[in-house]
Amino acid sequence: MRFSRSNPILVAFFFGGIILPTAILSVLSFRNIQNETFLAKKNFEESLKSFKKEVENVVQKEQRKILQETKAASQFLYEQPQNLLEFGNASSFKNVNGLSAIFLFNKETIVYPNIASHFYYESSKWPQTNYSSIEQQLFFEEINKTNEEKVKLARSIRLMQSPFQTKTEQVQNLLGLLRNFYQNKKYDEALHIISLLQQRPNLQSYLHYQLRESLQLLHFEILVELKRHEEAQNLCLLELNRFLQQPHINDISATRYFFETTFNQILSFEQLTQETREAFWNLRENFNRQLTHTEILYEHLPFFKKILSDHLSPKEGILYRFDGNDFFFRMSYPWLSGDQIVIGKINIEAYEARIRSQIQTVAREWKNIPYTITNVNNSILVGSIPENGMILEQQILGQDLSWTLTLYQKDQKEFRKETRHKMFLLYGLVSFSLITVLFGSFFMFRFLIQERKLLFMKSNFLSSVSHELKTPLTSIKMFAEMMAKGRVQKPEKIQEYSLLIGKESSRLENLIGAILSYTRMEHTSTAFKWERFDFGICAETVYNALVDIALQKPLEISSRIEKNLFVMGDYTSLYSLIQNLIENAIKYTNSPGSIFVQAYEENEKIVFSVTDTGIGIPSSEQKNIFNDFYRVGDEMTRSTKGSGLGLAIVKRVAETHKASISLQSRLGKGSTFTVRFKKAE
Ligand code: ADP
Repeated sequence: MRFSRSNPILVAFFFGGIILPTAILSVLSFRNIQNETFLAKKNFEESLKSFKKEVENVVQKEQRKILQETKAASQFLYEQPQNLLEFGNASSFKNVNGLSAIFLFNKETIVYPNIASHFYYESSKWPQTNYSSIEQQLFFEEINKTNEEKVKLARSIRLMQSPFQTKTEQVQNLLGLLRNFYQNKKYDEALHIISLLQQRPNLQSYLHYQLRESLQLLHFEILVELKRHEEAQNLCLLELNRFLQQPHINDISATRYFFETTFNQILSFEQLTQETREAFWNLRENFNRQLTHTEILYEHLPFFKKILSDHLSPKEGILYRFDGNDFFFRMSYPWLSGDQIVIGKINIEAYEARIRSQIQTVAREWKNIPYTITNVNNSILVGSIPENGMILEQQILGQDLSWTLTLYQKDQKEFRKETRHKMFLLYGLVSFSLITVLFGSFFMFRFLIQERKLLFMKSNFLSSVSHELKTPLTSIKMFAEMMAKGRVQKPEKIQEYSLLIGKESSRLENLIGAILSYTRMEHTSTAFKWERFDFGICAETVYNALVDIALQKPLEISSRIEKNLFVMGDYTSLYSLIQNLIENAIKYTNSPGSIFVQAYEENEKIVFSVTDTGIGIPSSEQKNIFNDFYRVGDEMTRSTKGSGLGLAIVKRVAETHKASISLQSRLGKGSTFTVRFKKAE
């Protein structure tokens, strides 16, 4: 670990800056993750609290909103029509979603609905309209009849008015006559009898209210049949005016029936002007609304009286009451000013729907909380009961509505499931980041060490190469100088020195050749000359050139080199591949030892192998020896001359020829390098 020793700052940076913080962070994260279930429970409790609060708030808020809307709507109640003329105008009545009716009082005097004011409460001052002229016109109109008919009619009436008859009998007879005329479509006569019945104040008292209404309706129908539309309209208006001014409402359903029928028929008249149609339309809407409100008021009269007189704390101004069927609320000061009182009848379905939708919006954000909201009848409005159904807490909501919010215990299994999910995710994430950091650091570290080694090897190479270059050069220079100065006279010495110069030169040549072929191979493969040739012959040539060197060591050397082993490749580079492998075998095998060189064909491949009984290569080094400038750091290698480029060249040549290299080696026993080439076609 030369690197670690020589770069303490870098190591400190690695451990102190990356590994240590990562390890601490991971430990802390793992510890935190283990607390997850506890946290989830605590979280759930906190969530429950917030949820409860939020639901309470939202219910209160919506209830207040409804009250605000009611207050705003109550302003319009003062503008509701009071007399016949106003009933024909379009009124601005404001509905409140959640209420089915709204009533306005001043102390105990009713302000709206106006038509109810005559019944139980002090009557307000109605503007009096004089309709007597219309009445005159309508009821005392001369009926256009022939004299003969007049006589007939007069006679029949006289007959019925016999002094022996009681008034009831007279009315009954007149009604019988009326029915008869109406059935026989003798409308004029029928009209005459109707006017007769209506004119006579002494007969009026005998007419039951409903009977009076039916007479008027009959009157109206006859006018419609006779296409006397305007008169029919007037009759309806007159009747409405009379109704508005009378001190009692005798029978709301009979009144409703009368006006519904007449208004609907009038609105179906074809000749109606746009203006009149609109007026009747408004009349119908306004009157119907008031009638409906009045009906509700009458249905709950005692209840209304009670709620009006109920004591109300001045702070609140709002009072909710349930009359057994319906919910009402009373709104007064400080919501409203002075003696104003508004009573709202709650339309429970719409009211609940409004609040429910608000709760649902809130609940959407709290998906994991089991809860229900139930109303007075115990039916669930929102939420659902969970499987275990263990109630945790109950709370009354919207006090006056008597809704109950029930919170349930969450299933233990659910907790575990939830946290397990989260824990898996967190464990996964932490482990992943830990592994990534560790792997990253490891590879970076390794890369730096390799880089460092490479640098070292390169500088080592340079020094060894320069040394290698210098040694033969020094000898050459020395021998040449000696001979030049004439110090060597003997011809046999001259021959010996010349041979030595030649030998050193070829060593130099070989070295330079290795460097050149290495750099050639490192930079490009385009310089290769691809040709088809016999690999066997090439191997034989190299083998023959090297045999002597092996024998000189001395080493046993033998071969089994076949012929006709054709490959596609670059002759020169394959030559140096073979040369490097055989040279290495010679270099790294001590005498006595043996070398065996083979070249043969097997399974469509050309196989070349060199086996030696040399020093062998430790398995930890086997993957490195093919790297540029790499040399095994043992004694034998150090004492053997070399550049660390031989096997790098072999590897590159093999790669460019798409050949595979394998190595079997055992330390101290020997090595076998095998290269498998693709056979040429
Ligand atoms: P060198 O010039 O050092 O021989 P090489 O690239 O040819 O460079 O070889 C790299 C290293 O592999 C050598 O330094 C040597 O330690 C080892 N090596 C190569 N061939 C053999 C072999 N046949 N037996 C033992 N060791 C070998």
